Amino acid sequence: MSWSQILDSHMASRSRLSQEDAVVLYRDAPLHALRNAANQRRVEMNGNKQVTYLIDRNINYTNVCTINCQFCSFYRPPGHEETYTQTLDEISHRVSELESIDGTRILMQGGVNPDLGIVYYTDLLKSLREKHPTIDLDCFSPIEIEGIAEVANLSTLEVLTHLKDAGMHGLPGGGAEMLVESVRKDVSPKKGSPDNWLRVMQEAQSLGLITSATNVFGFGETIENRVEHMSRIRELQDSSLADYSNGFTSFIAWPVQLENNTYGKRNRGRNKFELGAGPTEYLRHVAVSRLFFDNIDHIQASWPTMGLAIAQMALLGGADDAGSTMMEENVVSASGTNKIQASELELQDAIVRAGFVPRRRNSRYEHLETPSPITKLSELASPPPSQF
Ligand code: SF4
Repeated sequence: MSWSQILDSHMASRSRLSQEDAVVLYRDAPLHALRNAANQRRVEMNGNKQVTYLIDRNINYTNVCTINCQFCSFYRPPGHEETYTQTLDEISHRVSELESIDGTRILMQGGVNPDLGIVYYTDLLKSLREKHPTIDLDCFSPIEIEGIAEVANLSTLEVLTHLKDAGMHGLPGGGAEMLVESVRKDVSPKKGSPDNWLRVMQEAQSLGLITSATNVFGFGETIENRVEHMSRIRELQDSSLADYSNGFTSFIAWPVQLENNTYGKRNRGRNKFELGAGPTEYLRHVAVSRLFFDNIDHIQASWPTMGLAIAQMALLGGADDAGSTMMEENVVSASGTNKIQASELELQDAIVRAGFVPRRRNSRYEHLETPSPITKLSELASPPPSQF
């Protein structure tokens, strides 16, 4: 079928898109048609008024890592003079700073550090839980869980159980990149397989932890690869919702950053259209993901990599969440993206200029009271640009 037949049929019946049909839409449909359809689905699933955001802080507790992903500029190998591992007091101080601006969660992730035993993690979580009881602790990623399991000689399920008992609320979806074996072998040969990432996430979901699904794209992979990644996540979501009534809260995609890392250097000189993704391709990816994921409630716009202006466009083409303030982000910014941090006011401003009412949320996507929100263009500090 042609892209228009597929889109017409999907929008008329709301039937689940097959992988093959999603590839045709991704490849052939005009961007405006994709965005219109995705916006309709977003309105059906999340309403047309509000856009949510989260007040949080990234904490990158260690930069020691043995995995050596080619696109990563953040990590340092063990023994390198620039390695660091934060102490409990340092981390707790950072959480106190978050509390002072009314934040509700930390996103704490780091490298796979072979010198840290499971007691470092459980003591850290227990202490944070005790000292900062109102802060949600979304911590680590599947590859870190695999690393902890190896050092502790435990299964990943046992590690997750210990971490949950110590106070962890969620396992964010870092490290998925592309869940396609051939792409993964090329860019992160030492990272766990796609099956491992999915298995650890499923284990986290079985324990009731909050999870999200991520996707870094633009490694020169095919459109079929991109849709395969989405398909593997959709399959797991089906089974986790059926088995545990707990699945991914959201899908968050962004293009790989190619500055300051081995992958960018290795591919210097390659056609710029083959790597990374520009604004229109990113918006196409967001729109297809909204149409494809009939079982994931939220699609997040990625302002840290694309900028607030493109994130606003994503909110008008399938996304319903503006992400978070990301106080102190170090991983993506190490790869060349400029300052990654936004104040609550900046996020509210961007949301209002895109035509929505901003609403604070927590990491479960439950709406929170939003003190003194800007709700109208007339309340903005500077006049709205003419395009809105
Ligand atoms: S992306 Fe994560 S796992 Fe890969 S090298 Fe960087 S810190 Fe290590």
